[in-house]
Amino acid sequence: MLINYSGATQANAGALLEIDLGAIVANWQTLGRLHPTGATAAVLKADAYGLGASAVAPALHAAGCRHFFVAHLGEALAIRPLVPGAMLAELNGLLAGTEGDYIEADLTPVLGSLAEIDLWREAARMAGRRLPAILHIDTGMHRLGLDAAGVAALAAAPERLDGIYIRYLMTHLVASEAPDDPINALQATRFSALCAKLPPAPRSIANSSGIFLGEAFSSDLARPGAALYGINPIPGRPNPMRQTVRLCARVLAVRDIEPGERVGYNGIWTAQRRSRIATASIGYADGFLRSQSNRGSAIFDGRAVPLVGRVSMDLTTFDATDHPGIIPGAWLDLIGPGRTPDDVAEAAGTNGYEILTSLGARFARAYR
Ligand SMILES: *Cc1c(COP(=O)(O)O)cnc(C)c1O
Repeated sequence: MLINYSGATQANAGALLEIDLGAIVANWQTLGRLHPTGATAAVLKADAYGLGASAVAPALHAAGCRHFFVAHLGEALAIRPLVPGAMLAELNGLLAGTEGDYIEADLTPVLGSLAEIDLWREAARMAGRRLPAILHIDTGMHRLGLDAAGVAALAAAPERLDGIYIRYLMTHLVASEAPDDPINALQATRFSALCAKLPPAPRSIANSSGIFLGEAFSSDLARPGAALYGINPIPGRPNPMRQTVRLCARVLAVRDIEPGERVGYNGIWTAQRRSRIATASIGYADGFLRSQSNRGSAIFDGRAVPLVGRVSMDLTTFDATDHPGIIPGAWLDLIGPGRTPDDVAEAAGTNGYEILTSLGARFARAYR
């Protein structure tokens, strides 16, 4: 099935993005098996890390997933009809004035401050019924969440939670992909101590990498995002997740250039020999990051093709000298078998998360 967001079709698109929903579901099931102490949610923020929440949400819901997280209220409202009956929580916290939207759409806010708790308690009083929430506890990230003083204030005045049904007490790990970082154990210890001061409720700790940290990080609800989409949750070790994305770009033109000629904006690559340059229809406006200039590569026929010169807005050039099969109309794999999002990230000087969430809107998208 080809879903068309940009006017692109398989026939006219410069690049094709194929998303394997079966692999995403299989990854969710794998993570669930690795987290036997509780349920396993799916994090769908940023349009399911760029892969399309409107396709990913129903696939996971059909597979039995009943806990979903997004970052923004708007994201939650968009997928609410796709995940009937499931918990749908919104990580960035409750903005004053939006309480009615949460109640109407049966959304669960992740409350990260006393002010947000006060807003939600008041909303519950006005609604005349208990409202669900997740309480976010800051154990070291220092972005959102109640700090130790906030937890102490709640413990001293438990009536501030009147009318709030705490679905989960949640914390978020700072460096779960680095198992040797002592912050992991410190966060687990702090979380237990802070939870002990609050009314008993189920707990939620691990993101993708946290699931691999061992028992102290198991809880009633894991919250993986990246690993669902195939990013390696255990960097430096073999990736246990299935790849979910294939991105290929069409070759528009191939030309021969003489030694000493330079390629692309500012000529940052110089041919050392007579070279065949293939120009593909993808660029940084498609989220194909410019920091890959002179560093990235594509795959053709199972072999790497070096990216040469600057990535420009709509075009990227490759050294096809050793690949006579690359002719106009050929397709180069930029992500796919032999080249993972993590590989692309390494060339671009970032992480796989940014590679996926940057994926652009001009592709022809196909969901399998
Ligand atoms: C994004 C996010 C997650 C998912 O993290 P991954 O590393 O992608 O698995 C889980 N919890 C919170 C609070 C998040 O912001």
